[in-house]
Amino acid sequence: MSLTDAYDPENIFARIIRGEAPCYRIYEDDDVLAFLDLYPQSFGHTLVIPRRSAACNLLDVDTDALCKVMVVVQRLARAIVDELQPDGVQVAQFNGAAAGQTVFHIHVHIVPRYAGQDMRVHAAQQGDRGELEQLQARLVRRIAAGA
Ligand code: AMP
Repeated sequence: MSLTDAYDPENIFARIIRGEAPCYRIYEDDDVLAFLDLYPQSFGHTLVIPRRSAACNLLDVDTDALCKVMVVVQRLARAIVDELQPDGVQVAQFNGAAAGQTVFHIHVHIVPRYAGQDMRVHAAQQGDRGELEQLQARLVRRIAAGA
């Protein structure tokens, strides 16, 4: 998908927003949704997306939606760091297939990084469902506690 292709309303994140596909949701408000990456590159890998913006990438998203997403990215990065105690946290965002984007609804990755552990290959191996459920519960509790 190029940087200028039209938004496809059947992409998987649009389907998650509409409730047509499941996700391990950890946060939502009127404008933003966050859920665990189904193919985590590290323990706690989270995706943050705008709910109301039919935008493929950083270039076509409206500024207001982008700002709301980034406020949540910071809040959730803090909660993830508090809960999981990684040694670092990577925040990443890809635009266009040539840049590594595979789902064409704009999203921001929060990837906790643990010293001595390499990141797993991008979108390669599905996470263990039991582990994802437990992690979801931990992060939902931590976010509710106001981290
Ligand atoms: P990107 O390559 O930046 O477009 O990232 C897309 C991300 O979405 C990848 O890290 C995938 O592992 C992740 N992903 C794909 N399908 C799902 C899904 N159904 N639920 C959660 N994460 C997904």
